[in-house]
Amino acid sequence: MPPRTLTVTLPPATANRNYPIHIGRGLFNQTALYRPHLISRQVLIVTNTTVAPLYLDAVRSALTDYQVNSVILPDGEQYKDLATWQQIFDVLLAQRYGRDCTLIALGGGVIGDMTGFAAASYQRGVAFIQVPTTLLAQVDSSVGGKTGINHPAGKNMIGAFHQPAAVIADTDTLMTLPERELSAGFAEVIKYGLIRDLDFFNWLAHHADGLLARDPALLATAIERSCQHKAEIVEADEYESGQRALLNLGHTFGHAIETGTGYGNWLHGEAIAVGMVMAADLSHRLGWLTNEDVDRVRQVLTAFQLPITAPLELTAGQMLDLMAVDKKVLQGKLRLVLLTALGAAQVTSDVPMEQLRMTLASASV
Ligand code: NAD
Ligand code: MG
Repeated sequence: MPPRTLTVTLPPATANRNYPIHIGRGLFNQTALYRPHLISRQVLIVTNTTVAPLYLDAVRSALTDYQVNSVILPDGEQYKDLATWQQIFDVLLAQRYGRDCTLIALGGGVIGDMTGFAAASYQRGVAFIQVPTTLLAQVDSSVGGKTGINHPAGKNMIGAFHQPAAVIADTDTLMTLPERELSAGFAEVIKYGLIRDLDFFNWLAHHADGLLARDPALLATAIERSCQHKAEIVEADEYESGQRALLNLGHTFGHAIETGTGYGNWLHGEAIAVGMVMAADLSHRLGWLTNEDVDRVRQVLTAFQLPITAPLELTAGQMLDLMAVDKKVLQGKLRLVLLTALGAAQVTSDVPMEQLRMTLASASV
């Protein structure tokens, strides 16, 4: 099966900011996919202690003509912090990297976000290439240019918009991904179906088993369709002043679950899965979805081994408190992404509190 390439097309015309997303097998060690984007010989690969033993040598061997250094960061969301991020600059400066160097992010969303933000900041901005190795990174975080790190007071609170020069999404790298991480990535894939593509949602439902079995052709199709959606949304609304917010379906609920259950117990995609069920349930209470629609959302998430009920230890009142501090609160109003039909979404800022409470109260049973 030949690799597929999508192009993200971004304004303004003053600089060519378009970039390719390559999707397929056996891509991440192909010199030809890197070469057009490497401006000078200076290349820095940023990865972590889990991914480095699996894939670093293969990337290095594709770049033998270049001056390649690597930084291997500790693995985990808790290291997406200022102190760990600094290590990237320590190497860049020690090796006297210039403004024409290129950074390569080899890993999941944590590495992609940190490397992208380092590229946005080093000497006021250098190029970087995303080589995402988790499903979540391949379908979501590597595309769109949101980069950043966490602050103790909030996730992703320090960062920049900085688009990559290319994305190389190699489905072979997903073969080593733990099952839970794979399922969590599918939550974001299913999200694209729910907010804008009913056919895709149905296709995913039909192929759940094959996708979980990591059939390469099915994976490539799911990733390509997801990246198409992400690219279209980013092209239309790069800085999230409008429709990019629809990508937050399930996220206000989900962030409350992630925070309320304590760091690391729920994966992001797992929390988003429950959040999408809550969004669907609330949409039903507003008369926008049928009961059958909500059941179908539950069934498809379950088919991908994702949770659909809230953690028992979180009460509706606690959830509400946690949701009120979510960054999607604008001028004191709770803004939620809800479904007007399966495959269509809308941002709503006048959510009736009574219905919201009923959704939260019914979610853990
Ligand atoms: P992650 O980067 O922590 O990766 C998950 C785990 O899988 C890690 O332990 C990692 O080392 C391991 N891993 C990665 N690739 C592997 C492979 N091929 N084989 C085996 N193990 C592998 O988590 P993630 O889910 O990829 O990303 C989550 C991060 O992405 C969060 O920090 C989130 O804020 C960010 N994010 C950013 C955006 C964006 O638009 N920038 C969008 C969504 C999420
Ligand atoms: Mg998400």
